[in-house]
Amino acid sequence: MKQYDYLIVGSGLFGATFAYQARQAGKRCLVVEKRSHLGGNVYCEQVEGINVHQYGAHIFHTSNQEVWNFVNRFVAFNRYTNSPVAHYKGRLYNLPFNMNTFYQMWGVTRPEEAMRKIEEQKALENKASDSEPQNLEEQALRLVGRDIYEALIKGYTEKQWGRPCTELPAFIIRRLPLRFVFDNNYFNDTYQGIPVGGYNALIEGLLDGVETRLNTDFLKHREELTALAEKVIYTGPIDAFYDYRFGALSYRTVCFEQEVLNTPNFQGNAVVNYTEREVPFTRIIEHKHFESFGQAVYDNPKTVISKEYSVEFKTGMEPYYPVNDEQNTALYNQYKTLADQEEKVFFGGRLAEYKYYDMAPTIARALELAKRLILN
Ligand code: FAD
Ligand code: UDP
Repeated sequence: MKQYDYLIVGSGLFGATFAYQARQAGKRCLVVEKRSHLGGNVYCEQVEGINVHQYGAHIFHTSNQEVWNFVNRFVAFNRYTNSPVAHYKGRLYNLPFNMNTFYQMWGVTRPEEAMRKIEEQKALENKASDSEPQNLEEQALRLVGRDIYEALIKGYTEKQWGRPCTELPAFIIRRLPLRFVFDNNYFNDTYQGIPVGGYNALIEGLLDGVETRLNTDFLKHREELTALAEKVIYTGPIDAFYDYRFGALSYRTVCFEQEVLNTPNFQGNAVVNYTEREVPFTRIIEHKHFESFGQAVYDNPKTVISKEYSVEFKTGMEPYYPVNDEQNTALYNQYKTLADQEEKVFFGGRLAEYKYYDMAPTIARALELAKRLILN
C-alpha cells in the first residue's frame, strides 16, 4: 500500500478544494506546491495593514448555491460589490455597460433612447446581424455599437490580449453584462464578496490538517513523488506535464507594479480600467477598497495600488490567462487526448484544463472530481 491516496500537485483553489474533500472522506493526501506559499493565484500579502492580492484582483462571485455554502463553511464574505470605472481620455464611464454608461456616453436618460442609439449604431455596420459573430470585434459591435466599442472595449482588449480584436474569440466579451437599468454591479450572480480577512483564510481552512510541501516542483521530482501515491491530481499546466511534446500553449500574463502611497484614498474605487491604447497599463487596483467601505477608508492614512501591465507569456513567467483561440484549442485537444488515457493522473483547474475558469467554477469542478473519485 502506498503512503498516500492522493498526491495533489498545486495548492490553488482546485487542489485545496479537492484535498479538503479527500481528507473529509478519510483519504491520506500530500499537496506539493512549487511556490513558496499556498493558495495559487488567490494568495494575499499584508502590506501597510492592507490585504494585497498578489496575483491580481480577485472578486468572488457565484450563483451556485452548493459552492457558496461550501466556501462559507470556512470564511465569512463581506459586502463588496464590484463596480469598476473606465477611464478614457480623462473621462470616467461606469461599467459594465448600463444606463449610467449610456448616459455618460450619449446623454440619454431613458432605456428606450439608449436602445435606439445602439440600434442606430448597429445599422451603420454592414455585417448581416443574423450570422454568428466571427470574432470579438464583430460581437462587440453587435452588442453595443461603435462608440462604446472604440472607447471602452477596443484599446483595453487589445492591450489585455496583445492581439487585434478581429483575431480574438467572440466569447470573451460575452462575459460582460449589458443592461438597460442603472446598475453598476459588474456581475449578475446571486452572491459576491471578498472573504473577511482575505483569501488566505479560505485556503487555510481548506488545507487545515493536510500535509503540504512548499517549494516543490512536481515535474522535477515526478517519479519519486508519483510513486508515493495511488492517484495524482495535477493542477499545473498540461503542456508542461507532457514536456511540451506537441508545442507550448499560449497564455497572457500580467506584470504588477505595486506602490504604497501616502494618501488614504487614491482613486475612490477598487478598480479603474484605463481603456485607451496609449496608456500602457490596463488598470489600477486600489486594494483597500475591497475590504473597507465608506469613511473606514480613512482609518488607514496609506494606500496600496497595483498597476497591471499585460504581457505575452514566456517560459519562466506565471501563466495566467489561457488564450482559447482556434490554434491553442487544437493544441490543447492533442494534450487532452493523452490526459484522457491516463489511469492514475487526473487533470483539473485553470492550467490543467486550459480554461478561463473563475474561482467558483474551479471549486465546482474540484467538488465534482472529488465526488466522482472518492464517493464512487
Ligand atoms: P491556480 O490558482 O493557478 O493554482 C495552481 C497552483 O499549482 C499554483 O499555486 C502553482 O504554483 C501550482 N503548480 C503549477 N505547476 C506546478 C508544479 N509543477 N509543481 C507544483 N505546483 C505546481 N476568478 C474570479 O472568480 N474572480 C476574479 O476576480 C478573478 N480575477 C482573476 C485575476 C487574474 C489576474 C487571474 C490570473 C485570475 C483571476 N481569476 C478570478 C481566476 C482565478 O484565479 C482562478 O479561477 C483560480 O485561481 C484557479 O485555481 P486553480 O487551482 O485552477 O489554479
Ligand atoms: N473588457 C473591455 N473593457 C473593459 C473591461 C473588459 O473591453 O473595461 C473586455 C476585455 O476584452 C476582457 C473582457 O471584456 O477580456 C472580459 O472582462 P473581464 O473583466 O471579465 O476580464 P478578466 O479581467 O476577468 O479577464
